[in-house]
Amino acid sequence: MIRDQSVSHPESAVLHFIDNAGIARVKYVPASRLESLSSGGVGLSPIFGVLTTDDTFSAVPGLDPCQGDLRLRPDLAHERVLPGSPTWAWTPVDQYTQQGDPWPGCQRHFLRRMVARAETQGLTFLSAFELEWTAGRSEGQDWQPIHDGPSHGGVLTPVLKDHFAALFSDFATAGISVDHGHAEYGAGQLEVALGPTDPLVAADVFGLARQIIHQRSHADGWQASFAPLVTGAVGNGAHAHLSLWREGTSLFAPMGNGAAMHHDGESFLAGILAELPALTAIGSPLRISYERVKPGLWSGAWACWGLENREAALRLEGAQGPNAHKSSNVEWKAVDGAANPYLALGAMIAAGLHGMEHELRLPPPLQGDPSLTGPSEGEPVAKLIPQSIEESTDALGASAPLREALGDLLIDSVIATRRQEATTTASLSREAQIARSRRRY
Ligand code: GLU
Ligand code: MG
Repeated sequence: MIRDQSVSHPESAVLHFIDNAGIARVKYVPASRLESLSSGGVGLSPIFGVLTTDDTFSAVPGLDPCQGDLRLRPDLAHERVLPGSPTWAWTPVDQYTQQGDPWPGCQRHFLRRMVARAETQGLTFLSAFELEWTAGRSEGQDWQPIHDGPSHGGVLTPVLKDHFAALFSDFATAGISVDHGHAEYGAGQLEVALGPTDPLVAADVFGLARQIIHQRSHADGWQASFAPLVTGAVGNGAHAHLSLWREGTSLFAPMGNGAAMHHDGESFLAGILAELPALTAIGSPLRISYERVKPGLWSGAWACWGLENREAALRLEGAQGPNAHKSSNVEWKAVDGAANPYLALGAMIAAGLHGMEHELRLPPPLQGDPSLTGPSEGEPVAKLIPQSIEESTDALGASAPLREALGDLLIDSVIATRRQEATTTASLSREAQIARSRRRY
C-alpha cells in the first residue's frame, strides 16, 4: 500500500497503463472523478491491446477494431504524487469489461494472477528493474547524445549531478526507492537501478520512474529515450530482477549442504530457462530489439544461466558472500526498454512455476563469455536466444505453459502485435527503425 505517497488534494490525474508494444498510454482526468472512476472506469477501445509502436494495429479473434469498449479503472490504492506537478496524481489502471469483470487482455491483471498463483504455494517475490536510457538533444533530424562517455565517468559529474539530484528528489517524493544511478557505456546513456519491491509495485514504478525521467529531461532541455537502441551498438536494457521466497527463506540462496540453491529455486529457474525462446518475444518486442541482444554487449544474448555472468540471459546475482541469503536473485538481462514490465514479470513467474510443477533441473552454469572461451569440459554448448522477432514470436506461439498462463486473448494479442511489428518494419533500415521508435519510449 502506498496511499501515503498520494497527493493530499489532487486536482488532476494521469491514468497510466502500458500496452503490449511497451508504449506508455495515459488519459488525463479531473481528480474529482477518481473515486467514481475507480468503480465505473473510463472508456478505451480494446484495439489498444494490439497497437504497435507506430499506432498501426492488427486484429485477433475476440478483439474488434471498431466495436466494443473497455473500462480503465484507476487503482487508487496504488496512486502516487506526480513529482514536479504538485496538483497531479499518477494512478495505474486495470482494464475491465463493461460488465465489470477483469478484462482477459489486461497485462496488470495477468501479473496479479501469477503472483496470487504463487502465493497459493507459499511463494512470494521481490522484483526490481534497472532502467537504461539515452539522453540527447534533437536538432532537426539529428540526435546529439548529451555525453560521449566514459562509462561511469567522473568527468561527467558537472553535466549530470544536478540531473541526478533532481531525479533522486522526485523519486523520494513519489516513494520510489532507487539503488544508484550512473552514466552507462553507450553515448548519451544513463541508468538508474530501482530498489526491490513486490512485483506489481515494481511494474508500476517502472512506468512512473520513466515518466519522471521524461519530465526532468524535458526540463533540462534534452529528451530521454528508453527505446532498445538509439545510438551506436549498445542498447537500452531494462533488466528484470526477481528473488523467490518461502517463509522468509530465499530459494535462490546457496544451501548449507553445498547446493547452489534450494531445489525448488532450481526448478523455478530451470522453468524460466526452458521458456527463454518464448520469453524473448516478451522481453525484446521490436525488430530493433534484436540489434541489442548480441554477444559481447552484456545484454544476455546467451540462452543459459550463469553465476554473475553478464553474458548469460539469466544471471544469478548476489548469490555469493555473507549476504547471499538476502541478496540472491535472478536477473533476466534480455528485457529491453520496449518491454511491458507486467508481462515480463508475470511471464517469468509463470515459467518458473511451471518449472517447479515439473521439477525441472538446471544444467551446469555457464561461466565466462562463450564467444571468447568456447565451452569448457562438462559445460553445455551455449546457444543464443532467438535473434529475430520472427523466431521469438514463433517460440511464443508454441509455448503451452505461457499460453495457459496468459490466456488465449492476451497471448494472441501479444503475438499479433509482434507479427504486425515484424511486417511494418520488414524493409526498414536500422536507422529508420531507430527513428521510428526513439521518441516513443
Ligand atoms: N546496455 C546493456 C544492455 O543492453 C547492459 C549493460 C549492463 O548494465 O550490464 O542490456
Ligand atoms: Mg547497465
